[in-house]
Amino acid sequence: MTARVLVVDDILSNVKLLEAKLAAEYFEVASAFSGLEALAKVEELAPDIVLLDVMMPGMDGFEVCRRIKHNPKTAHLPVVMVTALDQPADRVAGLEAGADDFLTKPVDDAALLARVRSLVRLKIMTDELRLREQTGQSMGLIDPVQTLLEAGEFAGRILVIDDRAESVAWITAGLQSQNQTSSVGTFEEALAHIKGATPDIIIVSLALRAFDGLRLCSQLRSLPECRSIPILVLVGEGDRRKLTQALEMGVNDYLTRPVDQNELVARVRTQLRKKRYSDRLRDNVQLSLEMAITDQLTGLYNRRYMSRHLNAEIGNAGKSGRPLAFLILDIDHFKSINDRFGHDMGDEVLRDFATRISANIRNIDLACRFGGEEFVVLMPDTDVEFASVVAERLRRSVETTPFAISREPHQLNVTISIGIAGSEPVGDTAEALLRRADQALYRAKREGRNRVVAAAA
Ligand code: GH3
Ligand code: MG
Ligand code: MG
Repeated sequence: MTARVLVVDDILSNVKLLEAKLAAEYFEVASAFSGLEALAKVEELAPDIVLLDVMMPGMDGFEVCRRIKHNPKTAHLPVVMVTALDQPADRVAGLEAGADDFLTKPVDDAALLARVRSLVRLKIMTDELRLREQTGQSMGLIDPVQTLLEAGEFAGRILVIDDRAESVAWITAGLQSQNQTSSVGTFEEALAHIKGATPDIIIVSLALRAFDGLRLCSQLRSLPECRSIPILVLVGEGDRRKLTQALEMGVNDYLTRPVDQNELVARVRTQLRKKRYSDRLRDNVQLSLEMAITDQLTGLYNRRYMSRHLNAEIGNAGKSGRPLAFLILDIDHFKSINDRFGHDMGDEVLRDFATRISANIRNIDLACRFGGEEFVVLMPDTDVEFASVVAERLRRSVETTPFAISREPHQLNVTISIGIAGSEPVGDTAEALLRRADQALYRAKREGRNRVVAAAA
């Protein structure tokens, strides 16, 4: 994963230290030495994450964070406070200012990398959803979602998984007044509870007596109904190994024991706010999907939507410095399928092909029927090399698995050709990208079909 990290600290040696650690992991690092410089660089460089010192002369880190989070253009940028303060009251102040996480000086390498990676991963997904939403908005199809901070307070359903009565009592006491809390002591009970009423957030103790808490988290994460529920873990002080593992399996946040009730309330509130925001974003995108932008035959996006969206994605790739891959897929000699078996059997092949495309791409990729028997896939944050692997896998699976049709001969052998192009880092346009991919497809056809060709960089 590549990402741009902005490191903010008024002391040069602190900046250099973090820079060195991050650069060694191939992150792109920029720096700022004051609050004002940080705000300017956030606008100018569009970083993916900010590591922010709290104590700085002039504007302190809390104020910088507050300004980032109140600006609709930057509200979704993850901010990690890097601080020598480690009193719960300081953390609560940071959370109130909108901070996403904290690192204590001296910064532990494993904690640093785990946090940066998991927050950047989340940001990439949210960026993608926001961009799709904006395309829907620009087409006049959907209303804007409120920003993160406007999402406001709401009473959440909280499930606590812990088998120590005193601990459960302490956790729920803090949360009860604003939320609806329930608690269970085993994985089976948790499953039954989740199937009955989906919680908005799950709190898991990693110090369960009868069960491995980490295992439980990974099992929760693999349940489809739990995929978008934030998980917050409670970890013993000094249990760094467990914490790193938990963060790597996608746990959203953590608290160390002994649990401070104010900090718990603030962290739960932050997670609930984020969840509500992304739920709305997802609903909105879902709604726009069902409207005028889907292709009737296949259920994929239509050409009109893709054309609009492609412009936004290219702008985004240029700004963030991330690659973007574009695939055009075309069924070989499709006309003869129509001619031999009828137009309606041709339609069945097109539908089956759309399903196969969807099954072979990631959530973040966008598939569209571009017209007739021609499809395109837009792959954000992806280079041509990786896109070629996906394309080749798809080509092979089409070649080796016949398409089922409802009339004789019930099975058809089909092949496809694919052209790929990657976005240029500067000055690229939708038309130019499309043209390059189209030329690559044309070459694939000319060189004998049933093949993948990538445009030369
Ligand atoms: P090539 O290998 O060069 O791509 O040859 P091809 O026959 O696949 O390409 P061509 O562009 O010559 O023909 C595409 C055909 O697709 C012609 C058209 O009738 C058919 N077609 C376009 N839209 C639909 C559709 O919605 N349903 C069906 N069944 N056929 C369609
Ligand atoms: Mg064609
Ligand atoms: Mg064709």
